[in-house]
Amino acid sequence: MLNIDSISKGIVIDHIKAGVGFSIFQHLDLDKVDYTVALIINAPSKKYGRKDLIKIENNMDLDLKILGFIDPNITINIIEDEEIVEKINLSLPEKVEGLISCKNPRCITSVEKDIVNRFVLMDREEGSYRCDYCDHIYTWEGLR
Ligand SMILES: [Zn+2]
Repeated sequence: MLNIDSISKGIVIDHIKAGVGFSIFQHLDLDKVDYTVALIINAPSKKYGRKDLIKIENNMDLDLKILGFIDPNITINIIEDEEIVEKINLSLPEKVEGLISCKNPRCITSVEKDIVNRFVLMDREEGSYRCDYCDHIYTWEGLR
């Protein structure tokens, strides 16, 4: 039986914005793994009211840049012997490459399909990004 309150060894992805947990679950291909995984939706949170969280009973490599882009408020807890041995707070990455497309139809990346899209963080507070090719500016919400 899966104990959803604690795991002895693995990773807890915590403070996921409510409603975003399922897309992270899919992004990490957690429906295809053979170890225990729990996706918890709408858990009560002191900080955000409601949150999603994912518990993974295994060690796996996580792309912290991509996860930070999907949700910069995420906390990652590394668990060993039922204790948190490492806590990682994510943030918006300085650069995002090959993950999202520029929506400007005149951008070279819209025309030349083999160019890898690249966005550069402009303002961390606003969460705005600039296309490195056409200088088109996007808000973080508008890109996702
Ligand atoms: Zn562009």
